[in-house]
Amino acid sequence: MTGKSPMITLNNGVQMPALGLGVFQASVDETADAVVSALQSGYRLIDTAAAYGNEREVGEGVAASGVDRSEVFVTTKLWLDDYGYDSALRAFDTSLAKLGLEYLDLYLLHWPVPSTFERTVASYRAAEKLLADGRVRAIGVCNHNPDHLHDLIDRTEVVPAVNQVELHPYFIQQAVREANTEYGVVTQSWSPLGGVNVYWDGGRKAADNPLAHPVITEIAARYGKMPAQVILRWHLQHGLSAIPKSVKAHRIAENFDVFDFRLTADEVAAIDAIDTGERGGPDPDRH
Ligand code: NDP
Repeated sequence: MTGKSPMITLNNGVQMPALGLGVFQASVDETADAVVSALQSGYRLIDTAAAYGNEREVGEGVAASGVDRSEVFVTTKLWLDDYGYDSALRAFDTSLAKLGLEYLDLYLLHWPVPSTFERTVASYRAAEKLLADGRVRAIGVCNHNPDHLHDLIDRTEVVPAVNQVELHPYFIQQAVREANTEYGVVTQSWSPLGGVNVYWDGGRKAADNPLAHPVITEIAARYGKMPAQVILRWHLQHGLSAIPKSVKAHRIAENFDVFDFRLTADEVAAIDAIDTGERGGPDPDRH
C-alpha cells in the first residue's frame, strides 16, 4: 500500500478517487490479476468499457480482491452499437451482469458521434433514467469537445459528472478543460501517460512518447521518481482525474506511488509547455 488517492467531488456530490486503473487492451487473461493488484496497491477506481471485452474479468478482480465493493468506484461505458434509448438500457443491464455488480458508480457514453447526435442524446436520456432509478451513482461522457458538450447539455436534464478525454503532456486540452470547468464537469484524462501515441495507428507517433521527453525525465531524476510518476503528479496537481493502464504489477504499484512528492509551479508549467496541440488518438468529430 503506497498511500491513498485524493477524492474529487462530482457535481452531484458523489466522491470519485482522482487516480484509478484503466484496462483498455488488458486481455481477458490479464485483467482480473491487474484489478486485484491495483486494489491491493490502494487503487479504488477501475475504468473499463463494454468495448474492452473484459467487464467480466474486472468484476472477478473486484470480487477476488478482498476489498469491499462499496469502497471501489467502477466505471464502464456504453459502446456506439448500442446507442439509442432502449438499446442503451439493455446494454447497461448486460454490462452490469458481466461485472457481477448490483449497481455501477459511473456510466459514460464512449464517443459523441456528432453525425447521429440524436442517438447520442437518446442514449444519454437512458443514462439519466438509470441514474434516477438508482442503478448508477453518476453519469457522464467521453471525448466531448466543448461544442458536443454544449449541445448535449442543451438537450438533456442532468449535466454530465465527468468528461473523459485524451489528455497527457503532449495534448493538454486547455479548451476542453476550461469548458468542462465552466459547466461543472470533472475532466478525466485517458491515456494519461501518452500511451495512445505509441499504440494507436500502428505507432505512427511512437517516437513521441512523453515518458521519454527530457523535461519529464529531468524532473523525474530530480525527485528520484519514474517518468510516469511525474506525469501522474502533473495530472493530479491540475485537479484532473487520471486512469493509467498497466497489466504489470510493478508498474501498477509505481503509478500509484505518487503521494510522497509534489511538483513546483514552475515544473508544472514546464510540462504544460511540451504540449504539441496534436492528439494521438481518434478525432471525436469523426470517430
Ligand atoms: P496510458 O497512457 O495509460 O498508457 C498505457 C501504456 O503505458 C501501456 O502500454 C502500459 O504498458 C504502459 N505503462 C503503464 N505504466 C507505465 C509505467 N509506469 N512506465 C512505463 N510504461 C507504462 O494509455 P491508455 O490509452 O491505456 O489509457 C489509459 C486508460 O484510459 C485505458 O486503459 C482506458 O481505461 C481509458 N481510455 C479511454 C478511452 C476513451 O475513449 N474513453 C480511450 C483510450 C483509453 P503495460 O500494460 O505493459 O505496463
